[in-house]
Amino acid sequence: MQFNVAQLLKEPIGAVRRFEVADDINDLDPELIPLGPLVGAIQLLRIHSGILFSARLSTAVQVGCNRCLEPIAVQARFEIEESFRPLTDVTTGRYLAPNEFEGEEEDLEDAALLINEQHILDAREVIRQAIWLALPMYPSCNWKGPGECPNYTAYRREVAEGGVITLGDAGTPAGDEQIDPRWSALLALRRGETPGET
Ligand SMILES: [Zn+2]
Repeated sequence: MQFNVAQLLKEPIGAVRRFEVADDINDLDPELIPLGPLVGAIQLLRIHSGILFSARLSTAVQVGCNRCLEPIAVQARFEIEESFRPLTDVTTGRYLAPNEFEGEEEDLEDAALLINEQHILDAREVIRQAIWLALPMYPSCNWKGPGECPNYTAYRREVAEGGVITLGDAGTPAGDEQIDPRWSALLALRRGETPGET
């Protein structure tokens, strides 16, 4: 995830390098628990203001299920497109003044997008951020889409069967007509809030 771009910076606009990567990311972020390498394709393109970094990457990360808190694996799949700017002129070594920068102002101010004095483009920070953004906000054991976490469903059933939740009649499964009065108030509320539903 670190690339020496000295040669590429000396080449004309449009010059390109492509890489396939399978990088260990265990040291990327102490809060991330990777379950595998970061794999995918990276392209470095010489543009007028520096290097355009494009990547299509994926990895697997361990997170806690939002419902049952069990550790689960989720896939992070993402694309990145960021322009990096050189801190120094590659031929003279002279520091480039900010007003010599020809790209977007927002890129100028982001320290993660600087190519250092040794002409190393370090993509770790943008990749780290992209992984976090690619993770689901509410990870669940059922991570194919919306729906219940199977562990949580089983847990609720166990609790109900164990009698911890008070039913209308002990031992009788609660139908709609036998529902705990505290719950029926909630159900009525839910019905009231959903017009069109009978
Ligand atoms: Zn779960």
